[in-house]
Amino acid sequence: MGLFDRFASIEQAHTDVKARVDDPFGVRMDRMLSATEAVIGNRPTILVGTNNYLGLTFDPACVEAAHKALDAYGTGTTGSRIANGSYAPHRDLETELADFYGRRHCMVFTTGYQANLGIISTLAGPQDFLLIDADSHASIYDACRLGTATVVRFKHNDAEDLDKRLRRLADEPGNKVVVTEGIYSMLGDQAPLKEMAEVKRKHGAWMVLDEAHSMGVLGATGRGLAEEQGVEADMDFIVGTFSKSLGAVGGFCVSDHPQFDLLRIVCRPYMFTASLPPSVVASATEALRQIRKRPELRTQLWENVATLYNGFARHGFSLGPQMGPVVAIKLPSPDLAVGFWRALLDRGIYVNLALPPATPQGTALLRCSVCAAHTRAQLDKVVAVTAAIGREFGVIGAADLRAAG
Ligand code: PMP
Repeated sequence: MGLFDRFASIEQAHTDVKARVDDPFGVRMDRMLSATEAVIGNRPTILVGTNNYLGLTFDPACVEAAHKALDAYGTGTTGSRIANGSYAPHRDLETELADFYGRRHCMVFTTGYQANLGIISTLAGPQDFLLIDADSHASIYDACRLGTATVVRFKHNDAEDLDKRLRRLADEPGNKVVVTEGIYSMLGDQAPLKEMAEVKRKHGAWMVLDEAHSMGVLGATGRGLAEEQGVEADMDFIVGTFSKSLGAVGGFCVSDHPQFDLLRIVCRPYMFTASLPPSVVASATEALRQIRKRPELRTQLWENVATLYNGFARHGFSLGPQMGPVVAIKLPSPDLAVGFWRALLDRGIYVNLALPPATPQGTALLRCSVCAAHTRAQLDKVVAVTAAIGREFGVIGAADLRAAG
């Protein structure tokens, strides 16, 4: 029995894909030209496969803040917050995030993955129950595996199913912790938080919300889906990441729970890994300030979302159910998706190839993401080129060609 035998089917699928196109999961950005353009294999390429929703990766104020912190604090902290000390920028960012969300407490983690891993695995103990959406991100599933609670999955975005499952646990003395996401990363659909909050309240459960893809994107002030749906008070723990709209790397959790800070000394994914480099923390802090003082970034993002989503829809592509910064084109087979993805790259457009089993309902997807910094010309080109390839591949019909002029 070989050490890697259990990965044989994944290895074979990957080999098959690579036989047809260069490794789609090993694309190399040789040079970054801007937040929305990179040189890939000598070709300037429009980036429509990032999570850089507000385009802040090259924002002058964010870059300058990182430079300053690099000079002041050095390249890294070389250790964890509890063993080796917190630097001032980590504490300052926690204060600013808590203030942004109007919460008493905030913990900054080294990644959003670790924030979910740490918060979810630590909150629910051996007598407790974790109720997670079936389409949860890998970090939520991994948190369940790290933790000791009993895990119950409910149907994706189905508040009624959540209600049914919580009812079945009514006689159990343990805590019930519901976990959901704001915007889902693959299809871009949003959780029915209002309905879920009602269910959660009815059963006296706790709720953890991952706003990874919705922070800076949704809500009157950019706090996310809970703000948009007016249910922030029901979200006991909000998790987020710096790797998307904040344009950096890192994660956080905010809460009003009076014992929240206890997590700093019991949450292993917080305690046993090095803290973020201060330069990263500084750029994330500046990005948060940009989100707060430049609501026009969100307005521009949504204008761009409408251009891309409506552009694809007009040509007859089958898209995810909800308009948002994640725009997923559903394709009939993984083979077709691989060819389509490669054809786009050959014509200077980079999107994400998402194949089963990593996708909901086993769909093959071209996952596109919109950025506030995309120009109208870039988006028009993306729509036109994608439509041309769609016709070549027979994904959309000739009638769509006429409709598109
Ligand atoms: N939650 C969700 C829903 C995500 O999509 C991701 C990353 N794609 C994460 C958490 C992890 O974030 P990070 O990149 O900061 O580890």
